[in-house]
Amino acid sequence: MCAKIEDNHITYESLLKGNEKFVADTLKQDPEYFNNLAKGQNPPVLWIGCADSRVPANQITNTKPGEIFVHRNIANVVVHTDMNMLSVLDYAVNVLKVKHVIVTGHYGCGGVIAAMGNQSVGLIDNWLRHIKDVYRLHAAELDRIADVDKRAERLVEFNVIEGVYNLCKTTIVQKAWQNGQDLSVHGWVYALSTGIIKDLEVSVNNSSNLGSVFRFTAVS
Ligand SMILES: [Zn+2]
Repeated sequence: MCAKIEDNHITYESLLKGNEKFVADTLKQDPEYFNNLAKGQNPPVLWIGCADSRVPANQITNTKPGEIFVHRNIANVVVHTDMNMLSVLDYAVNVLKVKHVIVTGHYGCGGVIAAMGNQSVGLIDNWLRHIKDVYRLHAAELDRIADVDKRAERLVEFNVIEGVYNLCKTTIVQKAWQNGQDLSVHGWVYALSTGIIKDLEVSVNNSSNLGSVFRFTAVS
């Protein structure tokens, strides 16, 4: 979604060469690495982030394969009709029993910036419509921000916050809480220009701060 800056050195062949080097380097450090990793996964975290190539979950959190379960889409949109996201969430919460679900947006998100504009970018307009809905919900505050970049940054934050609440509204998360499962949902924003993650401090670990209309009495 973001502008391409310049061609880089990556080619189809170089990816396979890179894999050879990764395997060789890794085995040199730990001959049992792949044997151990192949036994299974037990990640404590589900990451829902943007598909943007500059926001790789493991690298920016200094974690390794096996430590974060990941779902990514354009502009880290969380909507309750997305079967892909729901399947990942269900598996993460009910099978892997993750303790944290983190929605991570990023400043300079091309999807969010496109959603703020009026130019059609094709099929993806329908996906980004969800972010226009987020804008509508927070239009009173957003319209007051004169600087377009600052307004986009705030919309990135609101898009994450709405994602957090949309997760909390799912039967999957509410059922986990009703069953006494230890599960928290968080919202973060990553700054491409500094590499620093900002915790938006909107963490939720039970249904008490959800609007009553979104709270199920019992989830079967
Ligand atoms: Zn993005």
